Amino acid sequence: MTTKTLNLQIPFHRADLGEEEVNAVSEVIRSGWLTMGAKTFEFERRFAEYIGASHAVAVSSCTAALHLALEAVGVGRGDEVLVPTTTFTATAEVVTYLGARPVLVDIDPRTLNIDPLDMERKMTGHTKAIIPVHFAGMPCDMKEILEIAAQRKLHVIEDAAHALPSEYQGKRIGTISELTAFSFYATKTLTTGEGGMITTENEEYARRLQVMRLHGIGRDAWKRYSAEGSWFYEVLEAGFKYNLNDLQAALGLVQLAKCDEMNLARERIAKRYTSAFQSLETLEVPVTLSDRSTSWHLYVLRLHLEQLRIDRSKFIRELADRGVSASVHFIPLHLQPVYQRNYQYKPGDLPVAEREYQRSLSLPIYSPMRDEEIEQVIWAVSDVVSSWSR
Ligand SMILES: *Cc1c(COP(=O)(O)O)cnc(C)c1O
Repeated sequence: MTTKTLNLQIPFHRADLGEEEVNAVSEVIRSGWLTMGAKTFEFERRFAEYIGASHAVAVSSCTAALHLALEAVGVGRGDEVLVPTTTFTATAEVVTYLGARPVLVDIDPRTLNIDPLDMERKMTGHTKAIIPVHFAGMPCDMKEILEIAAQRKLHVIEDAAHALPSEYQGKRIGTISELTAFSFYATKTLTTGEGGMITTENEEYARRLQVMRLHGIGRDAWKRYSAEGSWFYEVLEAGFKYNLNDLQAALGLVQLAKCDEMNLARERIAKRYTSAFQSLETLEVPVTLSDRSTSWHLYVLRLHLEQLRIDRSKFIRELADRGVSASVHFIPLHLQPVYQRNYQYKPGDLPVAEREYQRSLSLPIYSPMRDEEIEQVIWAVSDVVSSWSR
């Protein structure tokens, strides 16, 4: 390795955007139609096709997608919804939008996903739904989760913000449970800047989502978005302003066309990281499982802290000194002030999540990463390990 490769500044994320995206958005600007219209509907059709889902409904974010999905299955005041504590706050926050209570569940240390056993422990007579999160892109134990849900007549809404594209037992994430929510946020595996999608096999849910994402306006009024146009519309419900627009959809269509290619690039990076790090006793690399595939949205490295003279935070600072920006996913929700204040959670309540959080860090992994950047990340991690091992 030449010393030149060690002087780069490697950001935690860089979106895979090029002239094609610029041209697609420019075309929409020139067309004069900026809001939800033909491009958005085309994006929905293509996305459903790609996933293999019957329906795809485009929305302004994954947060909106989760909110609408919970609304569609009828979650409301007095209900409880099971959510892993290791997730982004959006997963739990949407439960509170509907006056329901998020009940935090501990994780499986192997996958860092919701633990089906702890899920059963946290159920009460008020439990109405479960939101499994496919952390880092690794699919949850959906078979176990769906069995428990069926026994207890609970709804399952998947938070697939990380899981495009991921597969579980031969099925794409987005085709498995009643409703699945995707994110097209700036740092996710497909981006429209901000955006989201809900997939479902249930036509009634699809209709409800389509009405509620745009002010509760009746579906028939969608004629307004076609050439025949109509001034008439009916407001059926007090809905939300959660639609995607054609600028975003145009970006999404280009990104979708290269989704597999971007996925392969991340997979190659993950394989290089794993082959470099798996022999280091100080490090634990992400698990791979034969019955599922991950999108590699995140590459989470875990430290064997007892073999190091530094903690995780210092490890991240040491990486920064070597030009590598790392991050942490996620600070467990039960450690956050709002969930402690409103639901009396305290440190120690979900011990597995807490322990894994203390020793986790996420490395840069994105399709436009250059070879010398990947090499430098490997060098930096190895160098920090050898400088600080006991
Ligand atoms: C990013 C993220 C969300 C929220 O997605 P938005 O599109 O920004 O609303 C939800 N859940 C998880 C696990 C996420 O990482």
